[in-house]
Formats: sequence, C-alpha cells, structure tokens
Amino acid sequence: MNSLLIGPATRKQVVFAGLCALFVLLALTIAGPRAHQTLPPITPFMPMCALTVFTTSGIAAFLLGARFTVTPQPMLGALGGAYAFTAITVALQLLMFPGVFTRTGLLGAGPHSAAWMWVFWHAGFPLLVILATLARDRLPNKPIGLPYIDRWTWALIGIPSALAAALGILAIHANLSAPFHMAPETNTLSGGRTGLVICSLDVLALAVVLFKGRLRTVLDLWVTVALLASFADASLNLLSMAPFTLGWYVARVFSMLAPGVLVCVLVWEVTVLYRELSEAHTSLLHTSTRDALTRIYNRSYFNDQFRREFERATRNGQPLSLVMVDVDNFKDYNDAFGHLRGDACLSAIAKALAGTARRPSDFVARYGGEEFALVLPDTGSEEASVIAEQARLAVMDLGLNAPLPAGRVTVSAGCATTEPTMLSTPNALVQAADAALYDAKRAGRNRVESVTPRR
Ligand code: GH3
Ligand code: MG
Ligand code: MG
Repeated sequence: MNSLLIGPATRKQVVFAGLCALFVLLALTIAGPRAHQTLPPITPFMPMCALTVFTTSGIAAFLLGARFTVTPQPMLGALGGAYAFTAITVALQLLMFPGVFTRTGLLGAGPHSAAWMWVFWHAGFPLLVILATLARDRLPNKPIGLPYIDRWTWALIGIPSALAAALGILAIHANLSAPFHMAPETNTLSGGRTGLVICSLDVLALAVVLFKGRLRTVLDLWVTVALLASFADASLNLLSMAPFTLGWYVARVFSMLAPGVLVCVLVWEVTVLYRELSEAHTSLLHTSTRDALTRIYNRSYFNDQFRREFERATRNGQPLSLVMVDVDNFKDYNDAFGHLRGDACLSAIAKALAGTARRPSDFVARYGGEEFALVLPDTGSEEASVIAEQARLAVMDLGLNAPLPAGRVTVSAGCATTEPTMLSTPNALVQAADAALYDAKRAGRNRVESVTPRR
C-alpha cells in the first residue's frame, strides 16, 4: 500500500505548509526582540508543555512506526525514531526538573541534569532528522523487504529510544557542569555556546531536508515546518532562558508545535485513506451487483434480492410478481448484424425495461444471455401483466430493426405472482414465470402470458 505521506505534495498542501512556516517565522520575529519581557508566572505551564510534547511525540513515533510497517520506507521509521527520542528525553527532563515532582527532581537528578536533558532533546532531534533524511537517500525507491520489517521497526524506533535513556543516565551520573551560564551584563541565564550549537544543528537539519527532499513530498513539507518550529524554540531559548519571559513562553509553544504538526498530518492522512477506502468499497459494492454489459443488476444481485423480497412478501402477507423477459429470435439478430450490434441491442433493451420498473422496490436484472427478470414486490397478477405489457411495448418502441419476418426487435414475457396464501417458494415462482414465458413463445412471440403458481 502506498502512503500519502511520501507521495507528492499538492499545491494546496504546499500553500498551507508555507503559511504555517510563515506564521512560525513571523512569531519568531515578533517575539525575538521582546524575548526578555517578563510576563505573569504560570507555574504549571512548563510541566504542561513537557507533558504535551511527550504525548504528541509518542503518538508521532507510534504512527510513523506503524506506517513504516505498511510502507517500508526507511525515512518513516527513522523519523519515528527521532520522535521516540524526543518523547523519552522530554519525559526524563520533566522527571528530573527541580520543583516539579520533588524539590530537587526525581531519579537522583543532580542540579544540572534537567538542563542537560533539554540540551540532549534539542540537539538530538535535528541530528536524528538529518540521519532519517540521509536514510531515504541511501535506499532510493528500494523498500526494505517485508520479512525484515519487524526487526527494522524495532531497530529504528528502539535505538534512538535506548540512546535517550543512556543520555538520561549520563545526565544523572556524569557530574556534568552546567550547560548554560549567567550572562554577567544582564545577570540572566544565557544560551551561550550550547544554544548556538543547537540552533546551528536545526539550521543544518533544515538545509539537509530542503536539499535532499526539495519539498517534493508531503512528509518533506511538514518535517520542514517541524524543524522551523524546533529552530524557533531553540533560538528563543538562546535569547532568553529566564522562566516566565515572553521568549520562554513562546519557545515552549514552539516545542509543542514540532511534534504536533506531524501528528496532525498523520491523522489527516489516516482520514483521507479512510475516505478513499470507503469510496472504493462503495464503488466495489456497486460494480459487484451490476452486469458489465447492460449496467443493470446482475444475476448474483437477482438471486440475493429476489429471495429477500420473497421472504419479505411472505412475512408481510403481500403478493410478489416476477416477469421473465426473453428477446425473440435473438440468435437471428446476432447472425444478421454481428455480436457487437447484438450487445448494443441488449443494452438498449435493458434500459427500456429498467424504465418500466418505477416503484423504488421494483428492480430489473439480467437473468442471463438475452433474458431479463422484472421483480415487482407488492404487485398483484393483474398489475404485473400491465407492467409486463408496458415493458414489451417499451422494447417495440425502441424501433430496433431486426431480420425479417419480424422486422423489429421484440420480446416475449411470462408473468407469475405468488399470493400470501399459496405457500410457494422462490424457485417455484421462477419456474412458473419461465413456463408462462414459453407459453408466450409457443403462442407466436412478442406477447405477454401470465400464470399463477400452484403449490
Ligand atoms: P427465442 O425467440 O426462442 O428466444 O430465440 P432466440 O434466438 O432468442 O433464442 P436462442 O436461445 O436460440 O438464442 C439466444 C441468443 O442470444 C444466442 C446468443 O448468442 C445470444 N446472446 C446471449 N447473450 C448475449 C450477449 O451478451 N451478447 C450477444 N450479442 N448475444 C448474446
Ligand atoms: Mg433465451
Ligand atoms: Mg430469445
């Protein structure tokens, strides 16, 4: 199955992604110069954002991993790994963050453990996106063989997850010095060199994605937007690390956006696929009940629906009529004009017959060859004879030339009606209508005969 994600992006998608990218850049330009501006403190804002990043990254990793098992393109699995890495690093950062769960942070975290987890999260994500982009380049149009899918999925998602856990251990036990320092002139925390490295990694990842992908696929588009959000997050942190400043707040919003866009795109893709599947199912149902030549119902539909109508008529104590219609001397028609014109003639007859079945529950099916069946629920024998006569005239009115002696294409019809008191069966009704049809043939063709089946 092909994935829409790695398919070409439509114009509308390019415009929408472009607007999102523009929004990110605009927000960055507005918030950047005011990054230090202090805003009212909302203490739960940081844990709330971290939890959102954890959840959306986890969902993105799961959906990308699941998509990879269906569409084995390495980039999908590797990107899933990048988001699994984000989910684990952000979760560890939250657990280690001083003052969230305990005063000094959980897991035996040191004073700088949470800050280092932030660094690992923000540096690891663009690095893993670069690797994912290169993975696609290394295996162009060559999906991984299906037997290896499970192993590859575990590897692509599992290795970055294990790396995140290992970095967590490093952040707790390696006694690392603070990744950020106080800026002496402003006396505030500064992103410094670490922040610059992270921003550069985001820019590098953007360059690689743009260069290798050239915004060709839907995935390229939205990974670019996610990286832009990640870059905006890192640069605002670089500008102002102090909590509850404008830069700090907006950076957190962008950190949620980076996995959020991918989740939205993945869910959108599932919705589109569901819609296509449902349309394909409807069209399949339609074609499976239609006759390929005449486009009216086919024998298989007749078998099922006629039985259902019969049971309904018996249950409701209503009559049910069946009219069997056969084209007269059709073999001669084929012999005279050829099978192609014979086919066209059958299509025209089918259309004319369908026009005579007017009530919603009436239907016409091609019974086989040049025979048709009109099923008329809740219709007594007299009414059925009238409809059969209308059908015969409708075919005559087509004015289709036929070989002499008839000179015109005609049909014969046999009607049979089952009344509720008769205790008949569907097959008995078909046999009765058939018998009436052959009476019509024997009587000279181009006529309607009726019979009431007996038990
Ligand atoms: P009768 O009036 O007794 O029904 O004579 P008939 O010639 O119509 O009956 P017969 O059973 O001898 O011939 C039926 C013909 O219908 C033969 C067959 O080639 C033709 N036929 C059946 N299905 C198709 C079809 O799909 N297309 C075409 N062109 N001919 C078909
Ligand atoms: Mg026949
Ligand atoms: Mg015939």
